[in-house]
Amino acid sequence: MADLYASIIIDISHENVDRVFQYRIPENLLGQVRIGTQVCVPFGSGNRIRKGYVVEITDHADYEVTKIKAIDSVPERGVTADSKLIELAWWMKERYGSTMNQALKTVLPVKRKVKARNKNVVQSVTGIPIAESSDQKGSAGLEGLSPDNLGIQSEPENQNGEDGAQKSPGRVMLNEDQQDAVDIFQAYYDESERKPFLLYGVTGSGKTEVYMEMIDYVLRSRRQVIVLIPEISLTYQTVMRFYRRFGDRVCVMHSRLSEGERFDQFERARRGETDIMIGARSALFTPFANLGLIVMDEEQEGAYKSEVTPRYHAREVAEHLARMHDAMFVMGSATPSVEAYEKARVGIYRLLELPHRAVAKTLAVTEVVDLRQEMADGNRSIFSRRLQQLIEDRLEKNEQIMLFMNRRGYSNFVSCRSCGEAVKCPHCDVSLTLHNHSRLVCHYCGYAIAMPKTCPTCGSPYLAGFGVGTQKIEEMAGRMFPKARILRMDLDTTSKKGGHEKILSAFSKHQADILIGTQMIVKGHDFPDVTLVGILAADVSLYAPDYRSAERTFQLLVQASGRAGRAEKPGIAVIQTYMPDHYTIQTASRQDYGEFFRQEMRFRRLMHYPPACHMLSIQTAGKEEELLARIMDSIAMAVQKHFGDQTIVIGPVPAPVYKVNDIYRKILYMKQQNYDILIKIQKYVQMRWDETDSCRRLTIQYDFS
Ligand code: ADP
Ligand code: ZN
Ligand code: ZN
Repeated sequence: MADLYASIIIDISHENVDRVFQYRIPENLLGQVRIGTQVCVPFGSGNRIRKGYVVEITDHADYEVTKIKAIDSVPERGVTADSKLIELAWWMKERYGSTMNQALKTVLPVKRKVKARNKNVVQSVTGIPIAESSDQKGSAGLEGLSPDNLGIQSEPENQNGEDGAQKSPGRVMLNEDQQDAVDIFQAYYDESERKPFLLYGVTGSGKTEVYMEMIDYVLRSRRQVIVLIPEISLTYQTVMRFYRRFGDRVCVMHSRLSEGERFDQFERARRGETDIMIGARSALFTPFANLGLIVMDEEQEGAYKSEVTPRYHAREVAEHLARMHDAMFVMGSATPSVEAYEKARVGIYRLLELPHRAVAKTLAVTEVVDLRQEMADGNRSIFSRRLQQLIEDRLEKNEQIMLFMNRRGYSNFVSCRSCGEAVKCPHCDVSLTLHNHSRLVCHYCGYAIAMPKTCPTCGSPYLAGFGVGTQKIEEMAGRMFPKARILRMDLDTTSKKGGHEKILSAFSKHQADILIGTQMIVKGHDFPDVTLVGILAADVSLYAPDYRSAERTFQLLVQASGRAGRAEKPGIAVIQTYMPDHYTIQTASRQDYGEFFRQEMRFRRLMHYPPACHMLSIQTAGKEEELLARIMDSIAMAVQKHFGDQTIVIGPVPAPVYKVNDIYRKILYMKQQNYDILIKIQKYVQMRWDETDSCRRLTIQYDFS
């Protein structure tokens, strides 16, 4: 039998982990050495024994066989929680085209950082013992992170009065649909059948109760659970439901924890002091010894995709991680991503459905208003006549109103009525946005100037704002409904600490009649007195330069409509649009996910977009426009030449915003049925990139979807 060789990384806290060392696996260790296993190896000229981790196993030697040393031994507990994470990092590096260093930084971030910092301390202040690290300040005792000191956004009081979980702590009696879902889960869990579940249930159908029942079941088999929740829904209310049910076996990981607190949460999991980790994306990397279940709520959320290399999607990583642990994976959504629903349709996932609300409440009635008709009838206000009439009616009845506009600022651009030029950012390829009538701000780089008196291009004094943002709507609503008390919630009003909570709390105490905001206001918050939701310009997000724009718009519209009529009072949602016949508007107004999915898949298939195809986009950037163009053209030609007969290559094209902060950006798209070929292309491009000296003045990023 041929010898087997293991590639080993020696020190995972070291920057240079991309250097791997090859060792022979001696016969007596063949059964024990796997990817991720910790091993002891002779290292360096003195052959001092050091510990390392196996990241790859092959049957071919990279060097002359006689020069390859053999692995010395496997320590008693060679497979640790870290082993699994290192195996995961290796998978992520391969799948998303990053370096091992980048992947390990993602998977073991705190561990590596804290270690490195301690080393520095020892080196610089020799001999003086210093408390672990300065990060851990202000978190006395560390083991007792309770919901009170978690720093989680506290929910405004006077929330949904009929919250079942609040009345009776612990469990509720599941309804028939919920019980069916749980029964199916338990049956497959017992049989070790590990096909992932997609729990598709309308908002309020009781998905969270179902997750908790599944979690309970898995805990009873002495295994641990990771619960992923998008940061924006990681609210006090949500976390408290888990605490009430599972007590202090619950840990929470969210972005407001300091590095030291995160480190400690992970250490608790490593020591087996916790069974449930709730958190955003990065909670996936909890070092549980015996993971039994991963739950991913709001599976469709964009925040599950990482924006830094490796650009992983938490859904894919969770699926792989679950497979590695022989654990179950359950995703849930009221508006599933097209990717996940397609996988359920073809049988890669198992679909569970909760078609009804758990507590009987009427769904909002949705009305679509054609803005072209308003124009034709001489109404040039942003509020259609129907919406005006409904707002008046609600104000009279002392009920509340939410107005949704997916664009902040006053006007989205200012242009010259003489020459037609828009006033643009000198550093970015975007128009400046008018704020407070007086300042023009770049939403990409923060550049800001006073509103000019004359056109920078032709000198004409006739400058005017076009399009509307939240700030302008606030002003117009104030003029049209002078008695109404109005609040605005967007990036500008919430940037100060606690800004979020203040606004939500004031609105929930009915200290305002109208809440105007960006998509921040449509997620997660329940206001029982809201009986009218106005979506002022549904088309804004439909025009976004992204193949997912229809999907995002559908989700936004359904979520926004869902804000109306959460309690006893029936609600109305008004969707204002210039495209009333668009399938996205039509299906969203009927809350018809199935029909939306069918139409959207038709479009994805026609255009070869995911999930009908896999896509790799290569984004490069640099200050030298000509160099960037030359390199990108040569990459495109080379890819076309080597892979072109099986791959659709598009571009290079300028990024949707070509220049940001004086840096130019170009993109090359590749579409392929076979993901493995995309990985081959990525490796090929990276190899050429590394060989080209001038590429050091550029950056490159890979994004798979
Ligand atoms: P989802 O996660 O699907 O939005 P939740 O689990 O939050 O739904 O449930 C919505 C509301 O209905 C919550 O207040 C919850 O406590 C309540 N609820 C869910 N299932 C039941 C049930 N079987 N009996 C009574 N109340 C329930
Ligand atoms: Zn001009
Ligand atoms: Zn700018």
